[in-house]
Amino acid sequence: MIKILANDGISKLGIKTLEENGFYVSSNHIEQEKLIENINIEKYKVLLVRSATKVRKELIDSCPEIKVIGRGGVGMDNIDVDYALSKGIKVINTPAASSNSVAELVFAHLFSMVRYLYHSNRHMPLTGDSEFKELKKSYAKGIEISGKTLGIIGFGRIGQEVAKKAIGLGMNVLAHDKFVKEAEININFFNKDNISFKVFTKDLEFVLKNSDFITLHLPKLEEKAIIGAEEIGLMKTGAGIINTSRGGIIDETALMFALDKHKLAYAGLDVFENEPNPSIHICMHNAISLTPHIGAATLEAQERIGLELAQQIITHFND
Ligand code: NAD
Repeated sequence: MIKILANDGISKLGIKTLEENGFYVSSNHIEQEKLIENINIEKYKVLLVRSATKVRKELIDSCPEIKVIGRGGVGMDNIDVDYALSKGIKVINTPAASSNSVAELVFAHLFSMVRYLYHSNRHMPLTGDSEFKELKKSYAKGIEISGKTLGIIGFGRIGQEVAKKAIGLGMNVLAHDKFVKEAEININFFNKDNISFKVFTKDLEFVLKNSDFITLHLPKLEEKAIIGAEEIGLMKTGAGIINTSRGGIIDETALMFALDKHKLAYAGLDVFENEPNPSIHICMHNAISLTPHIGAATLEAQERIGLELAQQIITHFND
């Protein structure tokens, strides 16, 4: 029986699918220092991780039984992918499983921003019972997102999922991508109707200048931030920006400066430059809606991740 160690956990559906197909799955977490020893004693052939467990060269060299390394999620920063591939190990991930969850979080931040929920939720517990009228007045200038323009930078899986939802909410969509020139956006309705839109991407400057809100969906490939002071300078005064992609894609110092000077009205951040110890100035900023990197963290995404990994493992060993 092929043995699988899901060291950072796997969904019940993933375990069930694998077990039904004759695999043994352990989802007991083994500490990093004891991982090599444990894999070799138990003779695991598949190692599944999320972001916590590191799969470096030393582990790959020390565990010759491992045939498949799987990452539940997208980023593979914690796995020496090229080295594993050079040793004939199959490396799999689940790039599409969490796109919808991340896209929904973008709108959670967007709605939070335009109606000041991020601020109201911090202040109602403190003074809601004594300064209700003052708070009511300070949040009286909210805006609707319908009819506004959303600029999507990075028009891959998540960017396109965001476009679908924006169109559904009556927004105008502008998109920029270094490589994608056009994309077909298919929207499926509850009654099985569907409609398709073709979106042609524009240059970065055009998108920055003409959007009421910017949302970022790029990989972090370079050291330099893609959105720094210069790019923020191109944006509309009073615009908002959301980053659910990777910390460092937006320059946090430039962002706070733009918020303090009221160049930008607000920001929504799920990812941070210095995770897991983000800047306290960012965390305490009164114009930022905050979440601690939970873009992919929904029950539905976890189910899809487990199932996608299970299906790829089954196909691999059946072949
Ligand atoms: P994707 O590869 O499908 O799309 C990324 C797009 O960015 C591609 O179309 C690519 O051509 C484009 N791109 C790359 N460099 C660019 C540049 N310099 N300028 C413009 N476009 C550029 O990826 P995805 O699945 O849509 O994921 C997008 C981001 O979201 C990634 O950074 C991923 O790590 C992140 N993510 C975050 C969470 C979370 O928990 N917050 C969860 C999943 C993914």
